[in-house]
Amino acid sequence: MIKAIRGMRDLLPPETARWQWVEQVAREVFVLYGYREIRLPLLERTELFARSIGADTDIVGKEMYSFTDRKGESLTLRPEATASVLRAVLENGLDKGGGVKKLYTLGPMFRYERPQKGRYRQFYQINCEAYGVEAPELDAEVILLLLNILKRLQLGEMRLLINSLGCPECQVKFKAALGLFLISREGLCEDCQRRRTTNPLRVLDCKSVHCKEILKDAPVIRDYLCADCAAHFARVLELLSRFGVAYEEQPRLVRGLDYYTRTAFEVVAPGLGAQDAVAGGGRYNGLSQELGGPVLPAVGFAIGEDRLLEVLPRDPLCQDREFKVFLAALGGAARDRAFALLQELRQHDIAAEMDLEGRSLKAQMSVADRLRADCVIIIGEKELTDNKAQVRDMTDAHQQSISFAGIVDHLVMVKERRANVEEILNQTPAPR
Ligand SMILES: [Zn+2]
Ligand SMILES: [Zn+2]
Repeated sequence: MIKAIRGMRDLLPPETARWQWVEQVAREVFVLYGYREIRLPLLERTELFARSIGADTDIVGKEMYSFTDRKGESLTLRPEATASVLRAVLENGLDKGGGVKKLYTLGPMFRYERPQKGRYRQFYQINCEAYGVEAPELDAEVILLLLNILKRLQLGEMRLLINSLGCPECQVKFKAALGLFLISREGLCEDCQRRRTTNPLRVLDCKSVHCKEILKDAPVIRDYLCADCAAHFARVLELLSRFGVAYEEQPRLVRGLDYYTRTAFEVVAPGLGAQDAVAGGGRYNGLSQELGGPVLPAVGFAIGEDRLLEVLPRDPLCQDREFKVFLAALGGAARDRAFALLQELRQHDIAAEMDLEGRSLKAQMSVADRLRADCVIIIGEKELTDNKAQVRDMTDAHQQSISFAGIVDHLVMVKERRANVEEILNQTPAPR
C-alpha cells in the first residue's frame, strides 16, 4: 500500500467541517475590514524566497522544498505566502492608485521541518496583507482584525506578544550592539556562531536552550529605536490599549523571517507546547524594494490553521447539522420510486440519501441513524399500492403516512420549522 509522505496528512471528514467553519469565519471578518481574496500558484522561483525571507534564515537554509525543473530552473513550493502575494501585487500593478490595498489568501505552505504536534510539512495558513500606508493605525487595525477572527472562533486563552524591530537605521545600530555582545560569548550553537557576524538578529530566533540562556543579558532593540520608530510603536500600543487589547511587550521577539520592520507580533495559545504561536505577523516596509519594486509600506499576518484547530474548542457551531432525509426502500419497484423522490428532494434543497444495495429495513434504518437523518421515508410494496409513504421523524419516532404528492412540501415545512427552533435556541438574551 502506498502511504502519504511523512509530515503530510489527509484532512478527513468530519474534521473538514471544522476547517470549513474556520475559513468561513475568517472570510466573513475579512469582508468587514475591506479585504478581498487573492489566489496564487504554490510554486515560485526559489530566488523570490531567498531574497525576501533571508538567506540566513532556517526556512531558506534548511526547510524549503526546492527542485530543478526540466529547463534547469530552481523552483520552490512556497514556504509562506507574504513574498508570493507581494510578487503578485507588483507584477499585476495592484499597488497602483493610492490608498490601502487589502488582500487575503488561504492555502497550503510547505516546509521540511521535523513533524510534531500541530506541525506538518504541508500546513495551512490564512494570510492577511495590507499595502500602501505607513500609519500605525493600519498596524493596530490588522491586529484587531486578527483578534476578531480568533474571538469569533472562540479561541479561549490567548496572549498577544508584540515588539518593534525598528527601521533599517535602528537595525544597523542594534545589530552592531548585539554583534558586539555575542562576539565574546562562549557556547553558542554552530548556526549562531556563524550568524553572530552575518546576521545577529537571527540569533534571537534560535531555538537552542543554550543560546536562549546566553541571550538573557543581550541588548534589546527597544533601546535602539529612532524617534520615528519609537513614536510609531507607542501609537500602535496606545491604539491597542484603547480598544481593550491586552498585549505583552516581548523585547526579543523577532520572528523567523528577515523582512520585518517596526511592528512584529505573535498570538500564542496554551496547549501547543514550545510551538505555541497560532498566528504571527508584522510590518515589512522594505520588502517591495528588496524584490525590485517601488517603496511600498506593508503589514500583515498569517494564522497557522493546523495549530489553531488543535487548540480551538470542539464547538457545536461547526458541527454538520444540515437537515437530512434518508429514504428506505424495500423491493425493486420501491427503489425506483425512491430514487426519483431522492432527486426531487435535492431540487428542493433538502439533503437526501438512500440505500442502493437492497438491504433489509433494519439495516437501512441503522444507516439512517449513522447519517443522523432527521426524517426517514419508508417505501415498500404496500406504500406503492396506497400511493403513500411512511414518514418517520427520527427525533420523536413519530410516524405518519403521507401521499407521494405531498411529501416534498411536508419535508420543506419540517425543515423550516427545525431551523426556526434552532435559531431561537441559539439566541442568547441581551444583557440588561
Ligand atoms: Zn527607526
Ligand atoms: Zn543558536
